[in-house]
Formats: sequence, C-alpha cells, structure tokens
Amino acid sequence: MDRREAVLRELNLYPLWIRREQPARLAGDQLPAEEVAESVLPVVDELTAHKVSAYADTSISVPGTALDGLGWPELKQRVHDCTACKLRAGCTQTVFGVGDENADWLFVGEGPGAEEDALGEPFVGQAGKLLDNMLLAIKLKRGNNVYIANVVKCRPPGNRAPQADEISQCLPYLQRQIELMKPKLIVALGKVASNALLMEPLANRLSDTTTTAKSLVMGREATLASLRGKLHDYHGIPLIVTYHPAYLLRSPTEKSKAWQDLCLSVQKMQEISNRP
Ligand code: URA
Repeated sequence: MDRREAVLRELNLYPLWIRREQPARLAGDQLPAEEVAESVLPVVDELTAHKVSAYADTSISVPGTALDGLGWPELKQRVHDCTACKLRAGCTQTVFGVGDENADWLFVGEGPGAEEDALGEPFVGQAGKLLDNMLLAIKLKRGNNVYIANVVKCRPPGNRAPQADEISQCLPYLQRQIELMKPKLIVALGKVASNALLMEPLANRLSDTTTTAKSLVMGREATLASLRGKLHDYHGIPLIVTYHPAYLLRSPTEKSKAWQDLCLSVQKMQEISNRP
C-alpha cells in the first residue's frame, strides 16, 4: 500500500476510482464523496505543484485594527506579550501559528490544546496528525504553501472552547496574520473558527466597538452543517468550512464529508489559479 492509499484509507475514502450506476439525483443533493474525488483528484497533482500567487486577488482589505502596520516580527512579539484576556494566565505559552507566511492556503483551528501549549505549535497532537493526513490527501504539506493558525493563541483551560470575549480579544491577531499573508483560500476547521471568521465582519460593522457588543455578535453561532458545502467570503478571500479534525477523530463516519469539503477547496483554488 503506498502512502497516498494509506492516507485515503484513513479518511475512509479508498478505493476511489470505481464508477457505479448512479440513481437519478435530486436538485440540491450533495455529490457522494467518491464522485467528487473522481472529478477532483486528477487536478490535485497539477494544482498543488505550483503557487497561484501570480493570479492572486491582492485587493483584500481587512478592516483596520490597532495592529495595522505591524509586520510579522512585531505581530509575533505582540502575541507573545499579550495579556488581554484571562487565557494567558492559565497557559504555558502563546501559540502564534506555523507555516509559510506567503502561503496560498490558510487553515484555521480553534485554539491550542495541551500538546500545542507544551510545544508552541498548532495542531501537533492527534488532531494535528489527522490534519496533516488531510493535507497530504490533497498533496499539501504543513509549511509548504500552507499556514496553520488558531482563532485564539492561548490554550483554554481543560481544552474548553474559547469564550466569545476571548475570541473577540484575540481575533485581531488572526486578522492581521491574514492581512499580511493574503492567502488565496481559507479553510475554517470546525464551528468555532467558522463562526469567528464569518461573524467578525458583522461585528466590525457595529458602530459601537466595545468588546461587549462584539462579544454579543460573536456569541451567536451557526451550526457547522449549515455552513459547510458552500463558499463563503472573508473580506474578499474565499472561505470554506469543514469539520474540525478532533471532531472527525470522534466521528470518523463524517470523514467523507470533510473530504468533500477538501475537494471543494481544491476546485476553488483551481478556479483562482485559472483566473486571467
Ligand atoms: N485544535 C485546534 O483547534 N488547534 C490546535 O492547534 C490544536 C487542536
């Protein structure tokens, strides 16, 4: 068994290439994972072999924050020194993000867990291993045209989900990372990351910019099922929602849906790369 087959098996996606007689599909039905894979995999090799920066839409504009003008080193220092919310007191270190700072692909998780807190790098535990395999399935690799970051940079105690006030305090750091990186596509992993990124533009439109008002908006949640399977927009950058790898470890039968989301992401990246 080669490495690729092993990865696809882990994602419950192997064998891939068997075309079956399909029953008539109703409008709005989602394609089965195998069929999406069949149409997408042939372009994956070509697509992930090169960067698409040359075709990039460089017009993204994330609303200004107090971090405007900071470059990567200053931003890292700000995160390192941050004590804005209660999370910093309970964690070992901040976890800024990892990878290619000029990446086309940005994957966003929720916040560091115990292993990430100990090592200072996102997604290094079991969920991280699955994320690496998900990347491998679409011929991507951590650090190589891929950046991985979290919504909150400090580990919430006991691995609880970050609270709305913590998210709204920390989100400007991710916002500035995105502004500096200008990724071509964002993949939001799980409900927390998806809601934070999709609610943030709404929160920013509030004239009352107090943290409390923003937290109220950030506290409103959409279900992941209602967000996945479609293309969203984060300040001009296409955004796709998929399941968090930790959830997939608990619910392996959902892996085929995550595969569909990855295929959609590849398709979108291909469209961007084909733009004149
Ligand atoms: N879960 C996340 O959301 N982020 C990590 O870095 C690790 C686990």
